[in-house]
Amino acid sequence: MTNSSQPGAPLHVLIIGAGFGGLGLAIQLQKAGIQDFLILEKGSEVGGTWRDNSYPGAACDVPSHLYSFSFEPKTDWSRKYAPQPEIFAYQRHCADKYGLHRHIRFGCEVAGAEFDEASGTWQVQTRTGERFHARALVSACGQLNRPAWPRIPGLDGFKGELFHSARWNHGYPLEGKRVAVIGTGASAIQFVPQIAPKVAQLTLFQRSAAYVIPKPDRAYQPWELALMRRLPGLQKVDRMLKYIQHESRVLAFSVFPSLMKLMQFRFRRHLARGITDPALRQRLVPDYPLGCKRILISNDFYPALARSNVEVVNTGIREVTERAVVTDDGQHHEVDAIILGTGFTATDFLAPMSIRGLGGRDLNQAWREGAEAYLGVSVSGFPNLFILYGPNTNLGHNSIIYMLESQFRYVLDGIRALSGLRYLDLKPEVQRHFNLRLQQDVRHTIWEQGCNSWYKTADGRNTNNWPGFTFSYRQQTRRLELNHYECTC
Ligand SMILES: Cc1cc2nc3c(=O)[nH]c(=O)nc-3n(C[C@H](O)[C@H](O)[C@H](O)COP(=O)(O)OP(=O)(O)OC[C@H]3O[C@@H](n4cnc5c(N)ncnc54)[C@H](O)[C@@H]3O)c2cc1C
Repeated sequence: MTNSSQPGAPLHVLIIGAGFGGLGLAIQLQKAGIQDFLILEKGSEVGGTWRDNSYPGAACDVPSHLYSFSFEPKTDWSRKYAPQPEIFAYQRHCADKYGLHRHIRFGCEVAGAEFDEASGTWQVQTRTGERFHARALVSACGQLNRPAWPRIPGLDGFKGELFHSARWNHGYPLEGKRVAVIGTGASAIQFVPQIAPKVAQLTLFQRSAAYVIPKPDRAYQPWELALMRRLPGLQKVDRMLKYIQHESRVLAFSVFPSLMKLMQFRFRRHLARGITDPALRQRLVPDYPLGCKRILISNDFYPALARSNVEVVNTGIREVTERAVVTDDGQHHEVDAIILGTGFTATDFLAPMSIRGLGGRDLNQAWREGAEAYLGVSVSGFPNLFILYGPNTNLGHNSIIYMLESQFRYVLDGIRALSGLRYLDLKPEVQRHFNLRLQQDVRHTIWEQGCNSWYKTADGRNTNNWPGFTFSYRQQTRRLELNHYECTC
């Protein structure tokens, strides 16, 4: 780690997490001439989402030219939607190229942080009791970092193999096994087609069906790769076109939810082509409007469900015994392994870390009715704290990396503004007005048309999604307005 300041002096910036958020910000800090920063990462490698989600079939669902840093273009993705190993390798390449490893402490899980008003610094503590202090604290923990374990009676007592898709046990051979998959979200639709041909029997427990539409994926032809190598500008053109194409979907998500009905046609056709059995097809039709939950893309999910060794069960799960999953109708489904495709604790944000701001106030307590921030980044009462991919900055239609890059600029502005100040604290009324308006906008979106989703808290508050255009978010984050903050010297 490079620390250009005096021994014992606080770090300029401390970042928690080395996924796309932490890595990208670190690169931007370096470009801005700030070398005095440290990343604490609980894992043993960079990558975050793409280190953890190594399940078979894992891949992005936003085209790779768009799902990568604009400042580190890659022209040789093997496919339009790169598989996880390539995305993970890209992240490691970024860390290597920009010399980030010397700034990262791996195996270092942050347990909590407390703001010291007198010095204007964050005192950060790790699970092992190590302490750091820094002028600015940046959370880059992501929204989808901690796997959600379903509360099913008896699950812990299951005697077979049990793991979550984000902690895939590659050492467990699935060949010839009877496997239960719980959940039909974005991960399950990717790994089910990969494992279905290997296993003896796959029983997919579906609480609610997903809308699955075709994935316009294919391998890049050698001539396309050669052309992009020669003319790297083509990658940028493709990125821009993909951006516009994805952005136009906001019209359906947020402005004219009725436009979603047009997509229904694509869904129905895709389902009909993949599933010929009318009873099964019926079970796979969601009972909520399209777009209310994340729309999934896959070309092989429905064909996998049509296999003779795959069964879709949409009766609720009552309990799990030592050897079986028992459904509400009393049926025992004996299995050798259970794979949880049950997603993440997305609405918990910075929990379980204990973050204490001015006057010792607790962030988890401040967010007990649902997380909120200004632009997803700043929270009143928590000075010099910046959150990447924070509340209401997730998307249902475009690349999170675009949102992260908007945040990098804003956070960098805040970090620069700290020189000459003790701290910067967001004005409470700025946060209040912003979130009143945001929640009003959310109310008109398709996400509010009658479903529960991981975007919402148990009370139904949407704390995760940005309800508008991403270029509007970029516009709002283009610079940090000091008059939105109390500046204390
Ligand atoms: C399977 C899957 C597929 C996805 N596909 C797409 C896609 O196609 N397009 C898209 O736009 N988005 C996608 N996403 C969303 C994805 O999470 C974001 O795009 C992006 O990777 C988030 O990066 P991040 O750095 O903010 O968070 P993460 O990648 O989650 O990284 C957070 C890091 O913080 C570390 N950390 C957390 N808590 C602590 C702590 N207390 N102390 C120290 N370290 C900590 C974690 O170990 C992790 O390394 C996908 C998510 C999943 C799960």
